Amino acid sequence: MDISDTWQHKGLRKKLTEEVRRKGVASEKVLDAINKVPRHLFMDSGFVKFSYRDQAFPIGAAQTISQPFTVACQTELLEVQPHQKILEVGTGSGYQAAVLLELGARVYTIERQKELFLSVQSLLPKIGYNPRFFYGDGYQGLPTYAPFDRIIVTAGAAEIPESLINQLKIGGRMVVPVGSSNNQHMKVVIKNEDGSIETTNHGNFVFVPMIKGVSH
Ligand code: SAH
Repeated sequence: MDISDTWQHKGLRKKLTEEVRRKGVASEKVLDAINKVPRHLFMDSGFVKFSYRDQAFPIGAAQTISQPFTVACQTELLEVQPHQKILEVGTGSGYQAAVLLELGARVYTIERQKELFLSVQSLLPKIGYNPRFFYGDGYQGLPTYAPFDRIIVTAGAAEIPESLINQLKIGGRMVVPVGSSNNQHMKVVIKNEDGSIETTNHGNFVFVPMIKGVSH
Protein backbone atom coordinates (compact mmCIF):
# COMPACT_ATOMS: atom_id res chain seq x y z
CA MET A 1 0.00 0.00 0.00
CA ASP A 2 1.26 3.48 -0.94
CA ILE A 3 1.16 5.69 2.15
CA SER A 4 2.94 8.67 0.68
CA ASP A 5 1.69 12.18 1.37
CA THR A 6 2.88 14.32 -1.54
CA TRP A 7 3.13 18.09 -1.99
CA GLN A 8 0.07 17.80 -4.20
CA HIS A 9 -1.90 16.16 -1.37
CA LYS A 10 -0.69 18.83 1.05
CA GLY A 11 -1.73 21.61 -1.36
CA LEU A 12 -5.22 20.18 -1.84
CA ARG A 13 -5.54 19.71 1.92
CA LYS A 14 -4.63 23.34 2.58
CA LYS A 15 -7.42 24.40 0.19
CA LEU A 16 -9.87 22.05 1.91
CA THR A 17 -8.88 23.50 5.29
CA GLU A 18 -9.57 27.03 4.04
CA GLU A 19 -12.94 25.87 2.69
CA VAL A 20 -13.83 24.45 6.12
CA ARG A 21 -12.79 27.77 7.70
CA ARG A 22 -14.97 29.77 5.26
CA LYS A 23 -17.94 27.56 6.11
CA GLY A 24 -17.67 28.66 9.75
CA VAL A 25 -15.15 26.61 11.74
CA ALA A 26 -13.02 29.09 13.74
CA SER A 27 -10.80 26.98 16.03
CA GLU A 28 -7.21 27.17 14.76
CA LYS A 29 -6.38 23.94 16.57
CA VAL A 30 -9.17 22.09 14.78
CA LEU A 31 -8.25 23.61 11.39
CA ASP A 32 -4.62 22.61 11.98
CA ALA A 33 -5.71 19.03 12.65
CA ILE A 34 -7.77 18.96 9.41
CA ASN A 35 -4.69 20.31 7.61
CA LYS A 36 -2.53 17.50 9.05
CA VAL A 37 -4.58 14.32 8.56
CA PRO A 38 -3.92 12.71 5.13
CA ARG A 39 -7.56 12.01 4.29
CA HIS A 40 -6.58 10.24 1.02
CA LEU A 41 -5.23 7.35 3.13
CA PHE A 42 -8.65 6.82 4.76
CA MET A 43 -10.66 6.64 1.52
CA ASP A 44 -12.01 3.64 -0.36
CA SER A 45 -9.78 3.11 -3.43
CA GLY A 46 -12.59 4.00 -5.86
CA PHE A 47 -12.92 7.50 -4.42
CA VAL A 48 -9.30 8.48 -3.68
CA LYS A 49 -9.29 11.20 -6.32
CA PHE A 50 -12.07 12.99 -4.41
CA SER A 51 -10.29 12.84 -1.04
CA TYR A 52 -9.98 16.59 -0.66
CA ARG A 53 -13.54 17.46 -1.63
CA ASP A 54 -15.64 18.58 1.30
CA GLN A 55 -18.03 15.63 0.96
CA ALA A 56 -18.87 12.31 2.59
CA PHE A 57 -17.97 9.17 0.57
CA PRO A 58 -18.75 5.43 0.78
CA ILE A 59 -16.15 3.29 2.63
CA GLY A 60 -17.73 -0.18 2.37
CA ALA A 61 -20.22 -2.04 4.58
CA ALA A 62 -22.77 0.64 3.48
CA GLN A 63 -21.01 3.24 5.67
CA THR A 64 -19.35 6.57 4.95
CA ILE A 65 -16.31 8.67 5.78
CA SER A 66 -17.84 11.89 7.16
CA GLN A 67 -17.63 15.24 5.39
CA PRO A 68 -14.55 17.18 6.65
CA PHE A 69 -16.73 20.19 7.56
CA THR A 70 -18.91 17.93 9.73
CA VAL A 71 -15.85 16.36 11.39
CA ALA A 72 -14.44 19.84 12.08
CA CYS A 73 -17.76 21.10 13.52
CA GLN A 74 -18.16 18.14 15.85
CA THR A 75 -14.53 18.40 16.94
CA GLU A 76 -14.87 22.14 17.61
CA LEU A 77 -18.02 21.54 19.69
CA LEU A 78 -16.19 18.86 21.67
CA GLU A 79 -13.62 21.43 23.00
CA VAL A 80 -10.80 18.89 23.22
CA GLN A 81 -7.86 19.47 25.57
CA PRO A 82 -4.59 17.52 25.27
CA HIS A 83 -4.48 14.17 27.18
CA GLN A 84 -8.25 13.98 27.57
CA LYS A 85 -9.78 10.53 27.37
CA ILE A 86 -12.29 10.46 24.53
CA LEU A 87 -14.81 7.81 23.49
CA GLU A 88 -15.76 7.84 19.81
CA VAL A 89 -18.81 5.83 18.73
CA GLY A 90 -18.60 4.82 15.04
CA THR A 91 -14.94 4.34 14.03
CA GLY A 92 -15.86 4.04 10.33
CA SER A 93 -12.78 5.01 8.29
CA GLY A 94 -10.89 6.20 11.38
CA TYR A 95 -10.63 9.75 10.00
CA GLN A 96 -12.40 11.43 12.93
CA ALA A 97 -10.27 9.42 15.37
CA ALA A 98 -7.11 10.66 13.60
CA VAL A 99 -8.30 14.28 13.93
CA LEU A 100 -8.82 13.77 17.69
CA LEU A 101 -5.36 12.18 18.02
CA GLU A 102 -3.81 15.21 16.28
CA LEU A 103 -5.30 17.30 19.11
CA GLY A 104 -3.36 15.24 21.64
CA ALA A 105 -6.31 13.25 23.01
CA ARG A 106 -6.32 9.60 24.09
CA VAL A 107 -8.93 8.01 21.85
CA TYR A 108 -11.07 4.91 22.49
CA THR A 109 -13.09 4.13 19.38
CA ILE A 110 -15.84 1.57 18.93
CA GLU A 111 -17.34 0.14 15.71
CA ARG A 112 -20.24 -2.33 15.26
CA GLN A 113 -19.27 -3.49 11.72
CA LYS A 114 -16.68 -6.24 12.02
CA GLU A 115 -15.29 -5.71 8.52
CA LEU A 116 -14.62 -1.98 9.16
CA PHE A 117 -13.25 -2.64 12.64
CA LEU A 118 -10.72 -5.14 11.23
CA SER A 119 -9.58 -3.03 8.29
CA VAL A 120 -9.19 0.21 10.26
CA GLN A 121 -7.40 -1.57 13.09
CA SER A 122 -4.75 -2.79 10.66
CA LEU A 123 -4.48 0.47 8.67
CA LEU A 124 -4.30 3.26 11.26
CA PRO A 125 -1.15 2.19 13.15
CA LYS A 126 0.67 1.90 9.78
CA ILE A 127 0.08 5.60 9.15
CA GLY A 128 0.95 6.66 12.68
CA TYR A 129 -2.43 6.80 14.43
CA ASN A 130 -2.91 4.69 17.53
CA PRO A 131 -6.32 4.92 19.15
CA ARG A 132 -7.58 1.92 21.11
CA PHE A 133 -9.96 -0.06 18.88
CA PHE A 134 -13.07 -1.88 20.08
CA TYR A 135 -15.60 -4.04 18.23
CA GLY A 136 -18.99 -3.66 19.87
CA ASP A 137 -22.25 -1.75 20.24
CA GLY A 138 -21.68 1.94 20.93
CA TYR A 139 -25.11 2.11 22.64
CA GLN A 140 -23.41 0.19 25.48
CA GLY A 141 -20.32 2.42 25.40
CA LEU A 142 -17.22 1.05 27.16
CA PRO A 143 -18.16 0.71 30.84
CA THR A 144 -14.77 -0.86 31.69
CA TYR A 145 -12.94 2.28 30.57
CA ALA A 146 -15.44 4.89 31.78
CA PRO A 147 -15.67 7.69 32.75
CA PHE A 148 -14.65 9.75 29.72
CA ASP A 149 -13.83 13.48 29.52
CA ARG A 150 -15.47 13.62 26.11
CA ILE A 151 -17.80 11.42 24.06
CA ILE A 152 -18.39 11.88 20.34
CA VAL A 153 -21.05 9.95 18.44
CA THR A 154 -20.54 9.90 14.66
CA ALA A 155 -23.78 8.13 13.68
CA GLY A 156 -27.30 9.55 13.93
CA ALA A 157 -29.01 8.41 17.15
CA ALA A 158 -32.79 8.27 17.66
CA GLU A 159 -32.27 9.64 21.18
CA ILE A 160 -29.34 10.51 23.45
CA PRO A 161 -28.07 7.11 24.64
CA GLU A 162 -28.54 6.95 28.43
CA SER A 163 -25.57 4.63 29.02
CA LEU A 164 -23.27 7.15 27.34
CA ILE A 165 -24.49 9.93 29.66
CA ASN A 166 -23.60 7.63 32.56
CA GLN A 167 -20.09 7.14 31.17
CA LEU A 168 -19.40 10.89 31.00
CA LYS A 169 -17.24 12.51 33.69
CA ILE A 170 -18.63 15.33 35.85
CA GLY A 171 -17.85 18.46 33.83
CA GLY A 172 -17.61 16.28 30.71
CA ARG A 173 -19.11 16.97 27.30
CA MET A 174 -20.74 14.80 24.66
CA VAL A 175 -21.44 15.72 21.03
CA VAL A 176 -24.17 13.62 19.42
CA PRO A 177 -26.38 13.99 16.33
CA VAL A 178 -29.97 13.15 17.34
CA GLY A 179 -33.03 12.77 15.12
CA SER A 180 -34.65 10.76 12.34
CA SER A 181 -32.76 8.67 9.77
CA ASN A 182 -32.46 11.53 7.25
CA ASN A 183 -31.96 14.60 9.48
CA GLN A 184 -30.34 15.07 12.89
CA HIS A 185 -29.78 18.00 15.25
CA MET A 186 -26.25 18.28 16.58
CA LYS A 187 -26.52 18.29 20.35
CA VAL A 188 -23.95 19.14 22.99
CA VAL A 189 -24.64 17.46 26.33
CA ILE A 190 -22.85 18.81 29.41
CA LYS A 191 -22.74 17.04 32.77
CA ASN A 192 -22.72 19.66 35.54
CA GLU A 193 -20.98 19.44 38.93
CA ASP A 194 -24.25 18.33 40.56
CA GLY A 195 -24.69 15.59 37.96
CA SER A 196 -27.51 17.39 36.14
CA ILE A 197 -27.52 17.49 32.33
CA GLU A 198 -27.69 20.49 30.03
CA THR A 199 -28.35 20.14 26.31
CA THR A 200 -27.85 22.71 23.54
CA ASN A 201 -28.55 22.51 19.76
CA HIS A 202 -26.03 23.28 17.03
CA GLY A 203 -27.58 22.92 13.59
CA ASN A 204 -28.75 20.14 11.28
CA PHE A 205 -26.64 17.36 9.82
CA VAL A 206 -27.10 14.01 8.08
CA PHE A 207 -25.29 10.89 9.36
CA VAL A 208 -25.76 7.19 8.70
CA PRO A 209 -27.98 5.77 11.46
CA MET A 210 -26.70 4.50 14.80
CA ILE A 211 -27.81 0.85 14.93
CA LYS A 212 -28.18 -1.36 18.01
CA GLY A 213 -26.13 -4.56 18.31
CA VAL A 214 -23.14 -5.71 16.27
CA SER A 215 -22.83 -6.96 12.70
CA HIS A 216 -20.59 -10.03 12.10
N1 SAH B 1 -16.23 8.57 12.42
C1 SAH B 1 -16.35 7.96 11.10
C2 SAH B 1 -17.75 8.12 10.54
C3 SAH B 1 -18.27 6.81 10.13
S1 SAH B 1 -19.99 6.70 9.73
C4 SAH B 1 -15.30 8.49 10.16
O1 SAH B 1 -14.60 9.44 10.51
O2 SAH B 1 -15.15 7.96 9.06
C5 SAH B 1 -20.64 6.04 11.23
C6 SAH B 1 -20.12 4.71 11.69
O3 SAH B 1 -20.85 4.38 12.88
C7 SAH B 1 -20.32 3.54 10.74
O4 SAH B 1 -19.08 2.92 10.51
C8 SAH B 1 -21.27 2.61 11.48
O5 SAH B 1 -21.03 1.23 11.25
C9 SAH B 1 -21.01 2.99 12.94
N2 SAH B 1 -22.08 2.67 13.89
C10 SAH B 1 -23.43 2.78 13.74
N3 SAH B 1 -24.07 2.37 14.86
C11 SAH B 1 -23.11 2.00 15.75
C12 SAH B 1 -23.14 1.47 17.08
N4 SAH B 1 -24.28 1.22 17.74
N5 SAH B 1 -21.96 1.21 17.68
C13 SAH B 1 -20.76 1.43 17.03
N6 SAH B 1 -20.68 1.92 15.78
C14 SAH B 1 -21.83 2.20 15.14
